[in-house]
Amino acid sequence: MPIPLDKVKVVQEIERLEDENEPDKKRRMQQILDSNDEQLSFIHSKHRVHWHNAAEIDQDLLPYHPTVRNGNITVLPSEQSLDVALRRRYMAHWGLPEWLGDNHFLLQKHRPPANSIRECLISIASIHSETVNIWTHLIGALCISVTFILFLLDNNRQMDISDFITFSSFFISAILCLSFSTLLHIFLNYSPRIMVIVSKLDYFGINILIFGSMIPVLHYYFYCNLKLKAIYIGILLLLSIASVIGTSSAACSKPRCRPFKATLFIVLGLYGVVPTIHACIIYGMHRMIQMGFLYLCVMAVSYIFGGVMYGSRMPERFFPGKFDIIGQSHQVLHVAVLIAIYFHFYACCRLFNYVVVNEKCIEPIMLKQIVYAEPLS
Ligand SMILES: [Zn+2]
Repeated sequence: MPIPLDKVKVVQEIERLEDENEPDKKRRMQQILDSNDEQLSFIHSKHRVHWHNAAEIDQDLLPYHPTVRNGNITVLPSEQSLDVALRRRYMAHWGLPEWLGDNHFLLQKHRPPANSIRECLISIASIHSETVNIWTHLIGALCISVTFILFLLDNNRQMDISDFITFSSFFISAILCLSFSTLLHIFLNYSPRIMVIVSKLDYFGINILIFGSMIPVLHYYFYCNLKLKAIYIGILLLLSIASVIGTSSAACSKPRCRPFKATLFIVLGLYGVVPTIHACIIYGMHRMIQMGFLYLCVMAVSYIFGGVMYGSRMPERFFPGKFDIIGQSHQVLHVAVLIAIYFHFYACCRLFNYVVVNEKCIEPIMLKQIVYAEPLS
């Protein structure tokens, strides 16, 4: 259930009372809550969160500056231990400012506006609605970095410059995308201006991932046909530039532009279908399966599944408040992206192995011989 908009007036009245210093504010707030007990049960959770916050503000959320008293430096309670520092206050969705309240189905455990790099960094190690989003892509970026190094160590003897460039474009684009996503989720609540900047960075990362992922596929599909390869990569480059401009333009920074941005990513992603169909026509399905076509299918399904879950905000749409910490649609998308990246990697490995063993065209083989001065099988 989204925010009960028809109850907004009651919420506003409670907020007004919370902000004022009236002597009987507790009694009046209780009256409002009691009078609306049946249909406004959600207010209780909001009320609790606010009171909880108010209690913590006094002790834990004072400014992080030592004070000087009688010539001695006094450290405030908030600075005494990491344990205290990690017990930050969290807000219900109804208490969030508009720029942070994107998902109405996540009811509790939202970080409030921080306006502090330290607060944002500390939130990496505490439990709230963005914790899993941060860690899934942080761990993902580390895992892919390690995979990249291991892959190079294992295969460098049979790789030429073109193999190195294509695999690097894939791995580096994936690492950048996941790192930008991690930054987005860490600094999302810093301020509206920073949120716009990190959101653009996140969109830029998605564009890079799509571009970098397609490079090895196009390279190996058309390994011996430089003309086709150049045409497909050229079109990909133009589409990617258009998508970067579209998703980072100032006119498109509003939430209502989300469908437009989603459309750009879908067009860019679907572009990959064209050379794949072309390759199917050239090689036939049997050879395509040998070249790892099914891995690419699983990758596409994973991306689509994650995108649909994210776009439709499932499963939290059906159980508001049940997935505030773990299981929300954005986390499903993050995991789906990681699965898709690894299946894409397996597909590229199959393509690479197939080409190394089977393709006999002149140009790439000459490159291999120049680099290693030894013939490949
Ligand atoms: Zn994300």
